Amino acid sequence: MKLATFSQGSASELGVVLDGERIVSLSRAAPSLARNMIDLIARWSQVEGEVRRIAAEAKDPLALADVHLHAPVRRPGKIMAIGLNYADHIAESNMGTPEHQLWFTKAVTSINGPFDPIQIPKVSQAVDYEAELVAVIGTGGRHIAKDKAASAVFGYCVGNDVTERAWQHRTPQWSVGKSFDTHAPIGPWITTADEVADPHNLGIRGLVNGELRQNSNTSNLVFNIWDQIEHLSKAMTLEAGDLIFTGTPGGVGAGFKPMKFLQAGDRSRIEIDGLGAIEGVCEPEA
Ligand code: ZN
Repeated sequence: MKLATFSQGSASELGVVLDGERIVSLSRAAPSLARNMIDLIARWSQVEGEVRRIAAEAKDPLALADVHLHAPVRRPGKIMAIGLNYADHIAESNMGTPEHQLWFTKAVTSINGPFDPIQIPKVSQAVDYEAELVAVIGTGGRHIAKDKAASAVFGYCVGNDVTERAWQHRTPQWSVGKSFDTHAPIGPWITTADEVADPHNLGIRGLVNGELRQNSNTSNLVFNIWDQIEHLSKAMTLEAGDLIFTGTPGGVGAGFKPMKFLQAGDRSRIEIDGLGAIEGVCEPEA
């Protein structure tokens, strides 16, 4: 199932995407079902049957073209992101393969809609794109063993780990350079885990103005998603709706000579097989 957060006017609604062109509003069909996506995920075991019934009935579907898709999780509890997790990206970054998983956070205020503009910040001339598979936590918890980690994931979506390279690298700690407003576009919806046969075998691409810059497969992850969940949950409680950005393959702007950073007017598009595509136009911070 493909679950989206959208609006037609001011109210934020939850919906099921039927076929890539139509969406059924869960919020209209069953107003008391869930307040938002995190609530829906947390209550999934109780509400899944009703959601599936509403999707199957497909009453009064809306054209996707007539709604505004928001980030499926608009305010996650946390966003964790792993760095240097594809061999070709490690090589282009002139760094060694980390012995330990290298984690940073993206501020939850960096969340952005799948087709909303990406800001070129006032202080920046080095905004870069990073195509990433994003895992959305479902049941979560602590001390989730690798062989149980798949059942902790609610679903997957497409993410762009937009990065301000100068701010990222001028200090040892990356989080601020990774946390500018609008720099965590996700979507276009969450595809539930039951519909993703193997999250470690998905084609992933990053394009700028239609030019293919990143072209890889999630089979190339250094630390796979189960390793990541096992590791993180040794330290912190993973909760419904938490987002895990699982790393980016080679081909980021900083990997080119000369570097190719995003400029106002550029379209940064990320695609993942079976999960859809997101695309934001870059615009100067107002
Ligand atoms: Zn990244």
